[in-house]
Amino acid sequence: MNLQPKASHFINGEYVEDTAGRVIDVVYPATGEVIAKLHAATPALIEKALNAAAAAQKEWAALRPVERARILRRAHDLVRARNDEIARVESTDTGRALSETLYVDAVSVAEALEFYAGVIPAYNGETISLGNAFAYTRREPLGVCIGIGAWNYPFQGAGWKSAPALAAGNAMVFKPSENSPLSALILAEIYKEAGLPDGLFNVVQGHGDVGQALVEHPLSAKVSLTGSVPTGKKVLGLAGSLMKHGTMELGGKSPLIIFEDAPLENAVRGALMANFYSTGQVCTNGTRVFVHRSIHDQLVEKVVERAREIRIGDPLDPEVTMGPLISKAQQEKVLNYIALGKEEGAKLEMGGGIPAMQGMEGGFWIEPTVFTNVTDNMRIAREEIFGPVMSVLAFDDEEEVIARANDTEFGLAAGVFTNNLPRAHRVIAKLQAGMCWINNYNLAPVEVPFGGVKSSGVGRECAMAALDHYTQIKSVYVESDDVVSVF
Ligand code: NDP
Repeated sequence: MNLQPKASHFINGEYVEDTAGRVIDVVYPATGEVIAKLHAATPALIEKALNAAAAAQKEWAALRPVERARILRRAHDLVRARNDEIARVESTDTGRALSETLYVDAVSVAEALEFYAGVIPAYNGETISLGNAFAYTRREPLGVCIGIGAWNYPFQGAGWKSAPALAAGNAMVFKPSENSPLSALILAEIYKEAGLPDGLFNVVQGHGDVGQALVEHPLSAKVSLTGSVPTGKKVLGLAGSLMKHGTMELGGKSPLIIFEDAPLENAVRGALMANFYSTGQVCTNGTRVFVHRSIHDQLVEKVVERAREIRIGDPLDPEVTMGPLISKAQQEKVLNYIALGKEEGAKLEMGGGIPAMQGMEGGFWIEPTVFTNVTDNMRIAREEIFGPVMSVLAFDDEEEVIARANDTEFGLAAGVFTNNLPRAHRVIAKLQAGMCWINNYNLAPVEVPFGGVKSSGVGRECAMAALDHYTQIKSVYVESDDVVSVF
């Protein structure tokens, strides 16, 4: 299999290579086969990308919003037209099943482009009446924004960051994760074909040091990062020390609470989607499944029965519903947590091992895993595993489960399944999480602000909220009377 792109980077409207950069092997997670070899950006390329972005941004910002929107709308059409190709690249690069990527990744980027093209012409400041005088505000772009992506949803990450940034009049330099670097290059091609002026969306490859160099460079004004909490703390710390803006979309250990009056079949589906979709590599996953003791055994039985039907296999087979993990390192990490769960006394209901995958023995496979008898202080209930490992915790009453759900440094997401509507809203209001669902889980439409509280992040992606984070307010006081002076 060969997915070698024309070159590693896309800068100032064209593919660029510099073989002096550190080699990045791009691997098909289902087999371990190397499918492309890229090079990390050298300091010279980082400089080139930032300069191209800075040079292009001012003219772009000066366009009427409807003109910028027209280009985003063309990009939307092109993303949809290339949906299947993007899905195949995404599945090969990340190992996520085609049964997901065909319907989610390009689609969510297309919707982001559609949304921001639609709303940007109506995104304005306000007029403030001050008696004889008045003031108005302008929503001005920040300049050159840095996007840094995680490896699980690389195309979506690039699209969710660039669509609002560009709509608001910024330029972007995007660094994908070195684990899944390919699809952001397709987005760069699409923007170019849609008529986006050169330099406004650049892709540079590399590891953390490239991300850091982009953030600390004097030409960058903001960083939007999707990644783990430790990386987020480092990057926001750096941005803060330079007084730059930062949006951090970080990890979680989110609670999914199933009350005794829950619609059971939907709760089972929710719990499965919240733990096994994308082989468990979703930041918002509801990995702490709190189940009311009265329905605990019944729910676990159904979850296990359904989880056994998960079709693990080649992600490029459209019948497959779960692919491998992203990397050997991630597989080892997940296996370590499973061993830890057993040591800590949790009960392994199913999974826990590496499935036998004939012909794909070099892949980073893992079985869907369910633990019961999990208690709050176990590490499998406290730390983000980022794999298909569900922890089920029993609870007895509402106040208790709210306190336990909130007893974590994270605050990305939370879900509640119940048919009791007052209870649903009462409980959600008390949960410390940025993204909440009632009677569903893990849906993230672009119209809804997305992001975390506590250690799970700062700022929001999607919706109108993202535009606020890619702009700054200029206030203008307009006098229509004489100046009052004490001198
Ligand atoms: P990491 O934190 O390891 O990396 C995130 C990105 O930051 C990568 O591109 C990485 O480069 C880069 N990076 C690492 N160090 C630095 C640095 N010092 N300065 C600048 N950039 C740096 O996360 P993963 O890629 O492993 O992704 C998994 C994590 O992402 C999970 O914790 C998950 O919960 C979270 N996530 C959050 C989401 C959200 O929206 N809240 C959505 C999806 C995932 P490199 O690839 O070289 O490490």
